[in-house]
Amino acid sequence: MNHLLQKAFIAQGIFLAANISLTAGNIKGKTPNIIIFLTDDQGYQDVGCFGSPLIKTPNLDRMATEGVRFTNFYSAAPVCSPSRAALLTGCYPPRVGVPRVLWPNDTIGLNSKEITIADMLKAKGYTTACIGKWHLGDKPEFLPDQQGFDSYLGIPYSNDMTINPRVQISKDVVYREGVTPESIRIKPLGGGKVPLMRDGKVIEYPVDQTLLTKKYTQEAISIITKNKDKPFFLYLAHTMPHIPLHASETFNGKSPRGLYGDVIEELDWSMGEILKTLKSLNIDENTLVIFTSDNGPWNLKNGHGGSALPLRGFKFDTYEGGMREPMIAHWPGKIPAGSVCSEIASTIDLLPTIAWLTGTAKPKAPIDGKNIWPLMTGKRGAKSPHDGYYYYNAMTLQAVRSGDWKLRIVKGKVELFNLANDISESKNVESENPEIVNRLTKKMAKFDQELKLHIH
Ligand code: MG
Repeated sequence: MNHLLQKAFIAQGIFLAANISLTAGNIKGKTPNIIIFLTDDQGYQDVGCFGSPLIKTPNLDRMATEGVRFTNFYSAAPVCSPSRAALLTGCYPPRVGVPRVLWPNDTIGLNSKEITIADMLKAKGYTTACIGKWHLGDKPEFLPDQQGFDSYLGIPYSNDMTINPRVQISKDVVYREGVTPESIRIKPLGGGKVPLMRDGKVIEYPVDQTLLTKKYTQEAISIITKNKDKPFFLYLAHTMPHIPLHASETFNGKSPRGLYGDVIEELDWSMGEILKTLKSLNIDENTLVIFTSDNGPWNLKNGHGGSALPLRGFKFDTYEGGMREPMIAHWPGKIPAGSVCSEIASTIDLLPTIAWLTGTAKPKAPIDGKNIWPLMTGKRGAKSPHDGYYYYNAMTLQAVRSGDWKLRIVKGKVELFNLANDISESKNVESENPEIVNRLTKKMAKFDQELKLHIH
């Protein structure tokens, strides 16, 4: 079945779902709610339970003591747009045509023919909501309502960008900082002045970024509360801690880690409010909540970037710091409390895992992610389903991880690391291990060739 037919088939499923009682899929009990809480450019170390020395995250830490913490969990790109395309489709970014960061009024975006987690769950009768940073194309044909989401509130790209002069404006728009309808078209404000959109139209410009984390959290609570008796999928992609950093008055100036710490502590508050809401509505035991970040931290000397320590590297590169992320999964009664998983897993695994949990058909086109429910629940002997995990930077395959070995080849420079005893990628052991280099080089070439033959 081709993509368009499949999408039409899934759309038909929405009507079917309305007329049949929902089944719980492969998990006992009611059909679960799904929440993905994604932060932007948060480093591997920037959560208390991942080792942050100064930032306090009591809510995320409690989430981990009640759930599972993944220590070898990867995004599928070291930058925002491709990482998000991968998370929502279960594919490495080159497969779905979003290999690079997108700009306002960009010509490319996530093609609506792709099946996202939202498309999949909408067909199952879920209410689907997107809140926060989208960054998969800001033209009308790329926005969340074309990708399976019933509602959207957020900024359409990164918070350091500007405004697309052709964007649709709501009649109820609030203009700030002297902006007029004409000035948007003629002379948009500079970088860091971005629009807040609701369902395809601008409702505030420029948005007051100090209130974004709070606004998103309020919207999330409203959606959870409205849908407490029926299944929902909430994709909450916070704008922070992407620079420029902003925290509300409640958090500003409070953390010894400076503004970056304030921002993370407000995000932690946001997660706390969401978990509290689920508990007070008595739906926490029927909701899977995932926390992770889209890519590693900025390498900035002014303290506004995060920390990926003890990992090497930052956002934009394929060392571990660029793509290994903190991840916590929470589902009381289903996920064993206080567990840790060190197996290799990725954001691309969320779609197939959710498909399996909810008994929903996966996309027919080839995807790269695998069901990691056995890892999330600590099933005895469960191993990573990834014999190889691949690190793409734009369209270029730069590295592979297979077990403890990682081979990285960038501009002809070959590096081999054993992550089991060298988590910081500090010692290149390429010359001592020619067979491993040979095996992994072939593995990379084979995978890359196959992927490029099956681009959607
Ligand atoms: Mg990012």
